[in-house]
Amino acid sequence: MTPKQRRQRDKGTPSAAQLAKLDHQYVWHPFTQMRDWLRKKPVIIAEGNGAVLRDVDGREYLDANSSIWTNLHGHNHPVLNRAIRAQLSRIGHSSALGLANEPASILARDLIALANRPGPNPDGFASRHSPTRSPRSNSHSRLAKVFFSDNGSTAMEVALKLAYEYARRSGRSRRPRFLSLDGAYHGDTVGAVALGHIDLFHQSYSRLLFKTDKVMAPYCYRCPFNHARAERADARDYRKCHWECLDVLEKKVCRQRKKGNPYAAFVFEPLIQGAAGIIAQPSGWLQRATGLARTQGALLVADEVLTGLCRTGSEWFLASHQEQVQPDFVALAKGLAGGYMPLAATLTTQAVFDAFLGDYAEFKTFFHGHSFTGNPLGASAAIANLKLLQDRSGLRWRQRLESQLRDALRSLWQLPQIGDIRQVGLIAGIELVKNWRTREPFALSERAGIRVCDAMAGKGVLTRPIGNVVVLMPPYCTTQQQLNRMVESLRESVRTVLGGAKSI
Ligand code: PMP
Repeated sequence: MTPKQRRQRDKGTPSAAQLAKLDHQYVWHPFTQMRDWLRKKPVIIAEGNGAVLRDVDGREYLDANSSIWTNLHGHNHPVLNRAIRAQLSRIGHSSALGLANEPASILARDLIALANRPGPNPDGFASRHSPTRSPRSNSHSRLAKVFFSDNGSTAMEVALKLAYEYARRSGRSRRPRFLSLDGAYHGDTVGAVALGHIDLFHQSYSRLLFKTDKVMAPYCYRCPFNHARAERADARDYRKCHWECLDVLEKKVCRQRKKGNPYAAFVFEPLIQGAAGIIAQPSGWLQRATGLARTQGALLVADEVLTGLCRTGSEWFLASHQEQVQPDFVALAKGLAGGYMPLAATLTTQAVFDAFLGDYAEFKTFFHGHSFTGNPLGASAAIANLKLLQDRSGLRWRQRLESQLRDALRSLWQLPQIGDIRQVGLIAGIELVKNWRTREPFALSERAGIRVCDAMAGKGVLTRPIGNVVVLMPPYCTTQQQLNRMVESLRESVRTVLGGAKSI
């Protein structure tokens, strides 16, 4: 039965036109210029199956950004649906303030097991006996405790507050300061915004925020230290530099330590900075950068909201582990419950936990919590999600998909409007430029990325750009044919929208 037929059957359900009117009249959409939005007929999603979304008129689209980077195994997955239904038949929600619940306890155990596992092994993702390449400083930072919340921003708020208070209580700093990366995005709540460094989003609120320090992030394609001429390849592969970005970082952390107030924490998105424009770090940067920060006394906060749960590599539960980094805090959200329920988790160490223990009257309690902390429906979906992630055939499918994506993206180099293609696992950012030889960008006001994505939507492929970068982030269940259609629609859309110059 199509969504239209269903609506005809269920009399009283608003028509597609009425729904569009309701949206226009009442809903304010995130990160959206509402004046533009109100001029257009909205796509109203009614159903999904696998990598396919269906709108109220029955039109089908490929979900090429996994519903804003959340969906892992596709929509309407029988295993995830079953897990949520089974939990729903018992209880939808009860509070974690003063009560425990079964799925949250089981999930916390499973997360801790995976987040301390340093890497892949020949027997697959799930073995308990990984022949480990030991992550750096593993002994400092065995993750032991899970604090649940409901989204990426709150997961980062929790990490921030814990790291701040831990620095004070452990006597490491009386005025804890944080270091994060240029272009960092850690969410939209005020603490997370303070850690962020994207002027377009954050500047207006600067007087509302506490001060954090920012340090250069590796953005090889536009790095002032990269002396390589533009090539038709990922800029990380042909960069000519001497890791000056790490020298800058080293100076910064040393200077702060010399002031007698080492950074409470170095906060980073491992391997790839998402909202900055899918900026992928060159191999080795993360291990070196976190090593420098640690040596100078900073704890490590890994924002794995986007990168966790095998997004950056089929066998790697955490992106940090790909560079043998074991953080002191890990934030997970987005795909944690498979992209089905709002659920997030902040993982930390026993040492941090212990700093909040005391007699009640000492008031060392972590006075923080959310009404939906540890929600059983979300936790049940997450337990099922972690099982799916560890399934051998799923793992092999992801491996195949990663290399198919790599192959498909190669075909885009023939377009002169492609400046850089950055792929890490099943995340790809395609940077559109006016002139690939000079790397001249399109002015943001030209809306090149938006226009290309609009054209892709017209061809039945949905994704959102970040400025001039088109994001492809397919669900893990995507078929090769669907993947090819995603890339093909991007190629055709660049040609028709940005047109002009011939293929290279
Ligand atoms: N951290 C990162 C790395 C993110 O990409 C995002 C969201 N794009 C967030 C935090 C915030 O997550 P949420 O939107 O769930 O609050």
